[in-house]
Amino acid sequence: MLDGKVALVTGGTRGIGLATARALAEAGATVVLTGRDEAKAKEAAAAAGAASGLSLDVTDAKAVSTLVRGVAKEHGKLDIVVANAGIMEDALLGMIREELVDTTLSTNVAGTLHTVQAAARAMMRKKTGAIVVLASIVGEYGSAGQTVYAASKAAVANIARSAAKELGRSGIRVNAVAPGVIDTDLTSGLTEDAKAENIGKTPLARLGTPEDVANAIRFLVSDDASFITGQVLGIDGGLVL
Ligand code: NAD
Repeated sequence: MLDGKVALVTGGTRGIGLATARALAEAGATVVLTGRDEAKAKEAAAAAGAASGLSLDVTDAKAVSTLVRGVAKEHGKLDIVVANAGIMEDALLGMIREELVDTTLSTNVAGTLHTVQAAARAMMRKKTGAIVVLASIVGEYGSAGQTVYAASKAAVANIARSAAKELGRSGIRVNAVAPGVIDTDLTSGLTEDAKAENIGKTPLARLGTPEDVANAIRFLVSDDASFITGQVLGIDGGLVL
């Protein structure tokens, strides 16, 4: 399905990013994954069947640009980029600290933006490419105690919608996935009651797995999705927030 394609996945050391790197590699792509910690990135790359694991902090625009250019140069091209790196910290309105605003927006919004910009630059030459960014169901509907995170993910969805409009004529597709509650380290802080409440509101009556999201991303970056761009695809078991 992805034979001969070169793919980059940010935040690929665990959770959805790791599952995505594995799914793309299993589909035949040459995958480079990144993580903040180089040793963890190398370990994850070996576990996922990826070609390499590199260290990258997506908040650093220059580092993102240099890394993406380097990957495209080393492999001769870059076909697929998944801007997955992200953080989530809950805080009720009255408890939101400036530091939380800064770290969330610089990682989720600016980090995604840096990745999409660098990907577009690398893909522009060949006039083909597919980018997927990680939005969230809470970015679409909002969530009590998650105002900052929800705002950041609404921004991510609109990075996809806007970039898709700009890059379509260059042959580059940009889509977002909006997962519901996926069982990863990010959501490990949820109490059993909170998990049960979410499952109760989910027609498919379970939490999502990283593979549920990875499989949808693999579809979106494949040629099977060749006429799909600017979309925000819910992967949430039908969850209604
Ligand atoms: P996770 O915490 O398991 O993994 C996140 C990854 O991003 C980690 O590898 C982490 O090291 C990396 N990362 C964080 N900050 C970074 C930075 N500054 N530079 C580089 N890498 C950085 O989370 P996950 O559940 O796998 O989530 C992956 C993405 O999916 C995130 O963007 C998250 O917001 C989004 N998402 C997750 C869920 C969910 O329920 N798990 C739901 C909706 C959206």
